[in-house]
Amino acid sequence: MADVTLRHVYKVYDGGVRAVNDFDLDIKDKEFVVFVGPSGCGKSTTLRMIAGLEEITAGQLFIDGELMNEVEPKNRDIAMVFQSYALYPHMTVYENMAFGLKLRHTPKDEIDRRVKAAAEILEISELLSRKPKALSGGQRQRVALGRTIVRNPKVFLLDEPLSNLDAKLRVSMRSEITKLHEKLETTFIYVTHDQTEAMTMGNRIVVMKDGFIQQADTPITLFEDPCNLFVATFLGSPQMNIIDAELFMDGKTLKAKLNDCDDLIVSFPDIKAKQLADKKYIGGKVLLGIRPEHVRPNAGNLKTYVDVVEHLGDESILYTKMENRKDQFIIKMPFNSKIHANESISVEFNMDHVYLFDCDTHKAIMGIPNEDEIPVTIHKNMITIGEQELTLSDEFVSHLLDSAFDKEVHLAIKPDYVTLEEVPNSLKIEAKLEFVEQKTDYQALYFSIKGIEGYFAMKIRNEEQIKLGSKVNLYLPYLRLTVYDEDHNKAFSREVVHENRGVANVVNKNGMTIIRVGDSTLAYPDNGQYPDGQYDIIFKQDKLMTIFSKKLLKKGYENPEMDEPRNRIKVSAYDEDVLGDKLLTYVEVKGFDNYASFVVNNNFSVYKMPKFELFVPADGFILEPRN
Ligand code: ADP
Repeated sequence: MADVTLRHVYKVYDGGVRAVNDFDLDIKDKEFVVFVGPSGCGKSTTLRMIAGLEEITAGQLFIDGELMNEVEPKNRDIAMVFQSYALYPHMTVYENMAFGLKLRHTPKDEIDRRVKAAAEILEISELLSRKPKALSGGQRQRVALGRTIVRNPKVFLLDEPLSNLDAKLRVSMRSEITKLHEKLETTFIYVTHDQTEAMTMGNRIVVMKDGFIQQADTPITLFEDPCNLFVATFLGSPQMNIIDAELFMDGKTLKAKLNDCDDLIVSFPDIKAKQLADKKYIGGKVLLGIRPEHVRPNAGNLKTYVDVVEHLGDESILYTKMENRKDQFIIKMPFNSKIHANESISVEFNMDHVYLFDCDTHKAIMGIPNEDEIPVTIHKNMITIGEQELTLSDEFVSHLLDSAFDKEVHLAIKPDYVTLEEVPNSLKIEAKLEFVEQKTDYQALYFSIKGIEGYFAMKIRNEEQIKLGSKVNLYLPYLRLTVYDEDHNKAFSREVVHENRGVANVVNKNGMTIIRVGDSTLAYPDNGQYPDGQYDIIFKQDKLMTIFSKKLLKKGYENPEMDEPRNRIKVSAYDEDVLGDKLLTYVEVKGFDNYASFVVNNNFSVYKMPKFELFVPADGFILEPRN
């Protein structure tokens, strides 16, 4: 029994591979969470960090509220089941299961009790005296599970445990593991690359790609509301059809032209049209998604040509060609023997189940967004949201980068974290309920905020009914808020950002102003601005540039163009924060009381080059005389 919390966890391997980025997840006691994604997306690495088999580069891991980063694997009370379930061949099933307990000097009768109980749960009691070679693959896997069950761990970690089994056995083991989870009432974290396994087993699924969480939610919500094109096409079989489309208004109706064909036009129902994230998409190109099961043949007026028909007993799958479209357009329907290959049919989309995605960002742009984003301006500790002017907490402001202030930025939060009840440490904003959509797992509430275009959405998971048009307060917990700058890089850091202020000694000599900071020396042409003496030097957060080592230059990294190439400060880094295209480095600078933070290019990681130099251009700092 245990909660597992990962807070902004990163893994950068020695070679510099960024395997896991900003993995942030709360796993509740007794939950069955599945990490799913294509090979190499960072699933195993995350699991191994939880187990303690892999060091956490940055971020924190808590089990039942206790920080685990430095705790030995054996003291974490976690059991891990791997895909290769190496059993000891010379031992019986009983001995295999008892082995770990013996090593821990568990009393004999206690071992006996636990082995027998585990065998019962797994229904292998009659196999206890057999040796592994006399077992089938599925039985062996059960023994491997048994070895972990006897230890009564707080958390079970399973890394593709079924991938060595044949297809049929995999299906039956799936339900056995689900049953096992119900019997044991323990937290399970399960890794797989197989979307069907994920959809059928997890209470919650974490979809990963390239080391980033794409979306984490219940299977049904991921299926109904994928936050981007990747999640939409990764889950579901056959996968969602994605069609080039152009949105336009026909009177008051939102419509889409498909494949640039005048006779392929679909109309959105009002409730859907209202959910379009931004009016800018009207008149522009988008990607339209429709699942094969949401297309009805022999109806409507969209023409498509049937290439191949597959009858699978209870259902038929049609592989069809649509005008101006390269990819097949797939339709899934209840068994129908009347539709044949090589004929043209008319089809109709169920427009309640149509998705739209941005062509560049691939984000979903209709319906509940992955993140609510609203334009705001922040000046000192005041934030302007439409017509509301609010005070931000000092803590929150201390994490904001320079790029967050005094221009339009976006305040963002996941709809799941917005609440209607007052919670401590949150920003309170006023909003008006515009419309509600009932989903299988939750209600999606769409609000307007005075002075802001578009909607602000939240999810509630209860039956509460709020009157349309009513004004409410929404609470946005600071812990869950982030800020994006105009380039959509994060302008919010994990650590407090300081002013990058230290002491500098200035001497003017031979027409140069020479500045000493710690053990670094900078020199610029003397323009009479800084007489000799002691100053405070403040390095600007986003003006300094990383100088790459020879090793990295060989790997294709490029150093910036430098007017005075010797103007560098030596730094040692201890952490970094990925902001998007940019990286925030936290470094120590000699002569500074606090760490400094600099925004640099993201094609570099401080874990590859923990000690490095930063080039300081002439406009990269301010000198203030010390009083
Ligand atoms: P998955 O489990 O999703 O297939 P992994 O967590 O195994 O992905 O790997 C994530 C990334 O980290 C991949 O690019 C992989 O090549 C890399 N990686 C995994 N283990 C190591 C290692 N020991 N050293 C360097 N890179 C590694």
